Formats: sequence, C-alpha cells, structure tokens
Amino acid sequence: MADTPTFNQPLGGNVMPRFGGHATMMRLPAAPGPQGLDACFVGVPLDIGTSNRAGARFGPRQIRAESSLLRPYNMATRAAPFDSLQVADIGDVAINTFNLADSVERIEAAYDAIAAAGCKPLTLGGDHTIVLPILRALAKVHGPLGIVHVDAHADINDTMFGEKVAHGTPFRRAIEEGLIDASRMTQIGLRGTGYIAEEFDWTRSRGARVVPVEECWYRSLAPLMGEIRESFGPGPVYISFDIDGLDPAFAPGTGTPEIGGLTTIQGLEIIRGCHGLDVIGGDLVEVAPPYDASGNTSLLAANLLFEMLCVLPGVARR
Ligand code: MN
Ligand code: MN
Repeated sequence: MADTPTFNQPLGGNVMPRFGGHATMMRLPAAPGPQGLDACFVGVPLDIGTSNRAGARFGPRQIRAESSLLRPYNMATRAAPFDSLQVADIGDVAINTFNLADSVERIEAAYDAIAAAGCKPLTLGGDHTIVLPILRALAKVHGPLGIVHVDAHADINDTMFGEKVAHGTPFRRAIEEGLIDASRMTQIGLRGTGYIAEEFDWTRSRGARVVPVEECWYRSLAPLMGEIRESFGPGPVYISFDIDGLDPAFAPGTGTPEIGGLTTIQGLEIIRGCHGLDVIGGDLVEVAPPYDASGNTSLLAANLLFEMLCVLPGVARR
C-alpha cells in the first residue's frame, strides 16, 4: 500500500488524456456522498429561480467539463489541496425542476447531510436562489455566518413578482432568518441600474460592508481583503460568488450581465484574500452555458472553485 496516495488525486493528463475519462470536477473520483470527505464539489442544476435568461441548470455539467483543464497545484499560492484534504465530486442535488419551493427543501436536506458529515461543500450552480437553502443548512451547524458575497447585484429584494424566494432575494431572507451575521458580511462588485436608488443601502443599514464596483476600478483588491480579514476575525465564513460580479468581457455566459464589472484578476484576489479566514464552504453561481459560446465562463468558474478549495483551512502550502 506504500504507493497508494493517502488522499484522492485528480486523474493526471499523463494517465488519461484530458479530453477523456469521466467528466467529474477536476477529474477527481466520484463519491456517492460526503462521508469521509473533508471537502466536496457538488452541483445544484437549478435555474427556475431566474428572473430573466435561464440556463444555469447546465452550469454544473459545463463547469465540470471545462475543469478538465485544471491541474492539482496552485502555482501562485503554492496551495496543494490534494496533499492534505480528502476531496471528491459527489454529483448533483436532485432538484425538482417543476417546483422551486420543493427544490429549496431538497437542497437544504442535501446540505444538512454534507454538514453532518463534517464535509465542506464547494457548489457548482445553479442560479443564486440556491444559496438560501445552503446557508440554512450550514448555519444550523455553525451559527450565523460571515459571508463574502461577490456579485453585480445585491440580491436583497424583498419579493420578485410577489415571491419571497427567487434568485434576487436570498440575502434578504438570509439576514432576516439570522443565517448571516451582517456585521461580518461584505458585498463586492455591486453596480448597474436599479428599480430604486436605495437598493444597495439595505444591507448597509444592517451593518454589512458594501463595496460598489466603482470603488474597485483600477485597483488591486488585496488591501480590501486585508481589511476584511481583520474585521471578520475568527468565526465561520462562507464565500458566495456570482459569476456576474465579473465583467461580461470575462464572463459573458450568465443570465443577468452588467457592464463595468470586476476583472478576473480581482476575482482571484478576492478568493485568495480569504486565506486565513475560517472558510466553511463556497459556491460559484449563475453560469449559464447557453450564453457561453467559448466555454471560457465555465473555465473561469472552474478555476474560481479551485481557488476556493485552495483557501480552505488545513490546505497544505508547498
Ligand atoms: Mn446573485
Ligand atoms: Mn448577479
């Protein structure tokens, strides 16, 4: 057994060509569930909470397909997640695509099981509705969570077309339900046109730090992340990354694009800047492959999910 690796390893391109083999995230082993895993990749192929262009149901599949380009070491941060964590792809949550409320319950149950196994979920979305049941499950175990939320949109509408649960409402629900500690919340990249001028003030009024995209233009976000690490301190933190936080030049494959967004480099700075926080999970949502002709949005999403894995506590750095 001496030659058997202690931890699951992505299938190497010298063992099976990168365009071959099973299309799991990063070519990791598929696992039937979270048992025995330190972290897992899990898909939630839901887009029935979307207000405009649908397609995020295809996100998990396409992100997995593009993730075959990834290799196991992070050459910039020297993170070696597969040297110290047991990670696998546990597949997708079986949502009910005819019923959003039922889907939300199914997602919460799935994440209850993940949390109960002591496994940290890294989620391939799916539209942003899915963060609500994920936070409901994780807050049961961890208590109110700190959150780094990257997005063009605040997602704090009270209702959409009269509905309390949709992809533009999850963070209002999460704050109302006490799932998030708003004093340990930041929203980065907000921009665009709104229905009311005060839209970004609601989270501010709850104590969160809102960073509109104009405050990010032309600069490194490493100093911002230093301030966030200091203000968040110890305690659990969740990363929720809506791909539309990045500019449509980099991430056109999404349902609600907004011009003037964050760069890919700033996205990397945000996630790498979470190193040192007690990150207990994260998601990458709103990738809509029908609008992603080159596949680059999904490739970007796969890379950002890998970067989230690399900042989990306990990851080896070489
Ligand atoms: Mn969003
Ligand atoms: Mn958004």
